[in-house]
Amino acid sequence: MKAYDILLAHQVKPSVQRIAIMEYLMEHKTHPSAEEVYASLSEKMPTLSKTTVYNTLRLFAEHGAALMLTIDDKNVNFDADTSQHAHFLCKTCGKIYDFHTQVGLSKTKELRMEGHEIEETHVYYRGVCKDCLKDKMTN
Ligand SMILES: [Zn+2]
Ligand SMILES: [Zn+2]
Repeated sequence: MKAYDILLAHQVKPSVQRIAIMEYLMEHKTHPSAEEVYASLSEKMPTLSKTTVYNTLRLFAEHGAALMLTIDDKNVNFDADTSQHAHFLCKTCGKIYDFHTQVGLSKTKELRMEGHEIEETHVYYRGVCKDCLKDKMTN
């Protein structure tokens, strides 16, 4: 699906800036922060402001067009992959990895806890990634 269609499908009005931000998220599966998105797009779009980028990303998350991750307490990160998946943060390099595993995840739509309706589940793991583990061993 194209960024334009994804925005429409989630009832987000597809403005030029919103499409550019969505495309950036779709092309960069590294879970960028609002600052990263702004830093990359502001070169091409000088009228873009940091606030607009942040508000747009939050809007995407509210409409279910993107995921908002709070795995890193210093940054809020965004993910265009809205399928159920877990995240792993490396405490050494700060990289966020995707885990497409069902461990710890259940179909949230079907889940009702004590009458509450669950809309989102976030599974976060923190540790040291395999690349950093390798560095540690060779040093
Ligand atoms: Zn690492
Ligand atoms: Zn992800």
